Amino acid sequence: MNSTELLLIGGDRRPALSEQTTDLIDPATGAAWAQVAAAGVEDIEQAVQIADQTHQKGEWRNLNSRDRTHILLRLANLIREQSESLAQLESRNVGKPISQARDEVGLAADCFEYYAGAINKVGGQTIPVAAAGICMTFREPIGVCGLIAPWNFPIAITAWKLAPALAMGNTMVLKPASQTPLTALRLGELALAAGVPAGVLNVVPGSGAIAGDALVRHPLVRKVSFTGSTEIGAQVMRLAADQIKRVTLELGGKSANIVFADADLSKAVPAAMWTVLGNAGQDCCARSRLLLERSIYQEFVERLKDKFLALKLGLPSDQSTEIGTLISVAQRDRVHQYIEIGQSEGARLVCGGEIPTQGPLAAGAYLVPAIFADVKPEMQIAQEEIFGPVICAIPFDTEAEAVAIANNSLYGLSGSVWTRDIGRALRVARGVETGVISVNTGHSVHLEAPFGGIKQSGLGRELGLPVLDHYSELKSVFISTS
Ligand code: NAP
Repeated sequence: MNSTELLLIGGDRRPALSEQTTDLIDPATGAAWAQVAAAGVEDIEQAVQIADQTHQKGEWRNLNSRDRTHILLRLANLIREQSESLAQLESRNVGKPISQARDEVGLAADCFEYYAGAINKVGGQTIPVAAAGICMTFREPIGVCGLIAPWNFPIAITAWKLAPALAMGNTMVLKPASQTPLTALRLGELALAAGVPAGVLNVVPGSGAIAGDALVRHPLVRKVSFTGSTEIGAQVMRLAADQIKRVTLELGGKSANIVFADADLSKAVPAAMWTVLGNAGQDCCARSRLLLERSIYQEFVERLKDKFLALKLGLPSDQSTEIGTLISVAQRDRVHQYIEIGQSEGARLVCGGEIPTQGPLAAGAYLVPAIFADVKPEMQIAQEEIFGPVICAIPFDTEAEAVAIANNSLYGLSGSVWTRDIGRALRVARGVETGVISVNTGHSVHLEAPFGGIKQSGLGRELGLPVLDHYSELKSVFISTS
């Protein structure tokens, strides 16, 4: 095991005052391979105080827009220069195929580049008020932002938070998921190397219950951006309410992939698979409810099964691996329970659902991707977020029924609709209660467009220009001319 990875506070790497550490387990082998300092309440106190002092000093927020842009562009370039080592780190830490990890590191670099470009393009307004003078608005940084990230796409989602928060001149304390803190720490170091002043970005791995909770409760933290489960998101929101803290929440999902009989099945079948199996199904956007028009239902499920049976599960480091491990054995077992639940509810297990017990995969957190057919919309497997490689196929007869099934969910994050009828595509896209939906593709996250959920999938948006509103306060200034 390598030496302990330390916290990053005020530009320095330091052990946790808590004296606690976390062992990171390689999900492909079950072996401990790294150790990370685990922040306690006193470490959060220190990190927040330093972030606040740095905000008060104003070195970052007062930097002129062109210099701030250049620093974020340098950071994007440094990520690209180190992309292979970052991807290797991410792949090993999360158990995701190296090819997917490379893509995600590239997305992180793109994200810093995008917000670097936004800095000098978003401004305020002049407003014709009913008085002699000029009223104008400014976007001011909020101050210390508490950023809490999940383990499924660590570097990408961390970049989604850091880049707009930095662009708007805030300081921040970032708490990565305790299982996946490594690329966040590397991003913190690269930010310093790019010229982000010490104390602006502090990275404090630690447990959610201790470090995360302390961050959310801290009165100097003015805004919390949280990505994770709906259960913890609700807790964050309750705590934030006490101090009228700004909150954005990106939470769970149970999205629908609606396929009509006139769709191009040569595209819809592989997309139905990959919109769930990317990242071994640990994706908030996974379209895990596959709604199929009844006339194509049997054929579609059979074609999907053939594709599932041809998938290559393998070691994350193998370039040809299509499906890696889940994040941990605990998560694999949690998902496997849903295989049992689905069968007990009367759904038909078409394929998969086994835990490999022999060969090189037996030591890892692997689960063979599964398809359930004949799923009823009210079943537990159709209602709860499984967060693993499991598709639930549900037949429907009419457009109205498809929309009603899609909307029979606590969640509303993502989704897709497949049809050659443009009118129906638009009606369904508008009718499904969701923050994001795509037509004739499974691809719905675009750096340049707002992303986020409705209902219990979240509050506020990430990405695009609208997220900048969530990392700034609007101030009105009136200058009298009388
Ligand atoms: P989680 O258990 O809610 O954890 C998310 C983050 O919150 C982790 O950093 C965690 O720390 C921290 N945390 C846990 N308890 C906390 C507390 N009491 N106070 C403050 N922070 C706390 O979620 P997860 O299992 O890691 O992630 C999977 C979930 O995230 C899924 O539901 C998925 O849909 C959702 N997700 C949503 C999006 C989106 O954009 N909508 C994107 C990705 C994931 P620890 O690691 O120490 O527990």
